[in-house]
Amino acid sequence: MRLEPGLAVVAVGGNSLIKGPDRMTVPDQYEAARETMVHIAEMIAQGWRVVITHGNGPQVGFILRRSELALHELHPVPLDAADADTQGAIGYMFQKALYNEFQRRGMNQLAVTVVTQVLVDRNDPAFQNPTKPIGSWMDEETARRRAAEQGWVVREDAGRGWRRVVPSPRPQRIIELAAIKALLQDGFVVIAVGGGGIPVVEDEEGNLVGVEAVIDKDLASALLAIEIRADLFLISTAVEKVALNYGRPDQRWLDRLTVSEARRYLAEGHFPPGSMGPKIEAILQYLEHGGKAALITDPPHIPAALRGETGTWFVPDP
Ligand code: ADP
Ligand code: MG
Repeated sequence: MRLEPGLAVVAVGGNSLIKGPDRMTVPDQYEAARETMVHIAEMIAQGWRVVITHGNGPQVGFILRRSELALHELHPVPLDAADADTQGAIGYMFQKALYNEFQRRGMNQLAVTVVTQVLVDRNDPAFQNPTKPIGSWMDEETARRRAAEQGWVVREDAGRGWRRVVPSPRPQRIIELAAIKALLQDGFVVIAVGGGGIPVVEDEEGNLVGVEAVIDKDLASALLAIEIRADLFLISTAVEKVALNYGRPDQRWLDRLTVSEARRYLAEGHFPPGSMGPKIEAILQYLEHGGKAALITDPPHIPAALRGETGTWFVPDP
């Protein structure tokens, strides 16, 4: 599969910011972001117009942990404020990395971050059933202690340890959508909907109120891709391709999936809820709402995948 350059939403995952447990400092995060932005700059050099979205789970976790440790002296940081903080800090890293890479390549481009609120439904059933992992991974004992002491809901996440879970309502409307579109129209590279957006609800008077929840970044990115009629929805994560029977001896890498095939494999349990599941769900949303093509790969393979040489491509049913 190969596409003419157009408008793309590129959702970058946690691996673009945190490479491992010993690579978590802010300079480490910047280095990881810089490596990913080099590949996105290459894409832009090929003629793509790009909106970058990103995860923020670990970064929100750091802020909440700092807040917790400082309670004897300072007010706590609510989750919506932590979201806003990370959108700014991660947006800054991407803006700086892209600026430097554009300058190195002699490209006349500028990236700008939009602090983005995303409306959710106060009556979304997710508020009764928290599922979204946030914060750092913990061992089971620590997790159970935090649950008892702080009233957290905790759960095991994709076999990688225990994490706190919070409600994950569906994204309904991107509040700053018109601003994102205007910036794209004017030729800016836009960074938006960080961490899935800051979840807000409307009160009786129509005022926005931030809530303690996390919107899935892949679903929010799909909503953005639908709303701006993106030609491509690219999910950049830690794997070059998606697999059937992932991590098992009979694992099989996938090159190209139709909507029906993706839906079937999702139903068969090939894409777990904590990791690959939401990405496939997001891609299905996008393709079912007029999207033309979606791609999952890792940052170093973005240019080759766009040439049709690798990655897993998703297309509408024929
Ligand atoms: P991100 O931080 O980018 O959102 P996640 O860790 O949430 O990434 O999800 C991507 C991960 O999902 C991959 O790195 C891989 O470990 C895992 N995964 C689960 N099922 C599959 C599958 N069927 N094919 C490929 N990767 C899978
Ligand atoms: Mg994820």
